[in-house]
Amino acid sequence: MRYSGFQIIKEALTGHRGWRPQWRDPDPQPEYDYVIIGGGGHGLATAYYLARTFGQSRIAVLEKGWIGGGNVGRNTTIVRSNYMLDGNLPFYEFSLRLWEGLEQELNYNVMMSQRGVLNLMHSDTQRDDYIRRGNAMILNGADAELLDQKQVLDRYPFLNVNNARFPVMGGLLQPRAGTARHDAVAWGYARAADALGVDILQNCEVTGFRIENGRCRGVDTSRGFIGAKKVGACVAGASSTVMARAGMRLPIESHVLQAFVTEGLKPVLPGVITFGAGHFYCSQSDKGGLVFGANLDGYNSYAQRGNLPTVEDVMEEAIAMFPMLCRARLLRSWGGVMDMSMDGSPIIDRTDIDGLYFNGGWCYGGFKATPASGFAYAHLLATDTPHETATAFRLNRFETGHMIDEKGEGNQPNLH
Ligand SMILES: Cc1cc2nc3c(=O)[nH]c(=O)nc-3n(C[C@H](O)[C@H](O)[C@H](O)COP(=O)(O)OP(=O)(O)OC[C@H]3O[C@@H](n4cnc5c(N)ncnc54)[C@H](O)[C@@H]3O)c2cc1C
Repeated sequence: MRYSGFQIIKEALTGHRGWRPQWRDPDPQPEYDYVIIGGGGHGLATAYYLARTFGQSRIAVLEKGWIGGGNVGRNTTIVRSNYMLDGNLPFYEFSLRLWEGLEQELNYNVMMSQRGVLNLMHSDTQRDDYIRRGNAMILNGADAELLDQKQVLDRYPFLNVNNARFPVMGGLLQPRAGTARHDAVAWGYARAADALGVDILQNCEVTGFRIENGRCRGVDTSRGFIGAKKVGACVAGASSTVMARAGMRLPIESHVLQAFVTEGLKPVLPGVITFGAGHFYCSQSDKGGLVFGANLDGYNSYAQRGNLPTVEDVMEEAIAMFPMLCRARLLRSWGGVMDMSMDGSPIIDRTDIDGLYFNGGWCYGGFKATPASGFAYAHLLATDTPHETATAFRLNRFETGHMIDEKGEGNQPNLH
């Protein structure tokens, strides 16, 4: 079924009896050409591009829970490409370009809204840093604008720019950046992949790998053994536990990150805004809630909920930036498990086991990467060569010293 304005009118006039399930619920086949472990945004996008762009078939996505139940449905929905290093920037700009055509590509409303991301700056040093980053972005084909204090105030008149501790001197704006509805991205990829014949198997947990003579022959699951010519792991926060079942120890730690939503307010934030004197990012959803987050909870965990000291810390940052926010009531908060790599950048690579591939280490920035990650991983799985924008995302870069340390914070995952 193709979705269109005409279809909505037709269904409205006929009692909405024509809508069909968005994807099938098939039984597992004994064997596939490609098994993708993890039905998050990245796994579903990988399956979609394998079928659509690389012409592959006999593909299954194995998800231990339900589609959209992982980080893809838990994030703060920010999409941007304001990176600086060569290893990262072309990849994230490629991703943003895929986002720009995603709704037409998938025939699905993922609510992509290019409302701009503004990073506030609070010191001369930070202005120099932002000028450098903005120039790197422009040189790589991305968009960036340096705003002075007045231009920031024109957009956000309620900001306390003369705050004695954190004066706002201006900001770096990426106008093409913005937000997309997180779980709609998972549903859109799932529906489009299913239409191309991909089997999406929910409630199907991978419990082990069959490895014979150095080659992966398939996976043991809660729904029985499933054979595969190639297996691609794509399980975000569960990366270290899943790959441990193949005998691998990854340069990844799992940490909790929390997100928060206030009650619905009248339109107040025209775009995404971040606080440069700490780590705080905020946007307003179409329903009016302010959606925001900040740092990790700071300890290793696989829990999808965080702790109160971090809640307090996030609220302090929020109010330092927007004093008016102390009048808003917090409606909900939740947590997700982040796959934190040692340098803050991801991994899309083959493993030492033939037929077994790994995608992970997305830290808290993997939502914006969803289209490019799926495309690059599908490229790797189909051709056994890395995509041109993902050549630096090697698994062994921590051994060879080729870190992609975007923030210059070294190998401490909780700092990235
Ligand atoms: C609070 C929060 C805010 C964030 N904000 C942003 C943001 O603003 N912008 C941004 O770019 N990124 C953000 N992120 C990060 C982003 O959400 C993740 O990096 C990204 O979603 C991870 O990829 P995924 O969608 O494939 O992960 P997931 O949706 O977590 O998919 C992995 C899937 O693997 C499944 N799985 C695990 N183990 C197994 C197994 N053994 N067998 C089968 N399936 C298994 C899980 O159930 C899960 O569904 C945020 C994350 C959080 C938690």
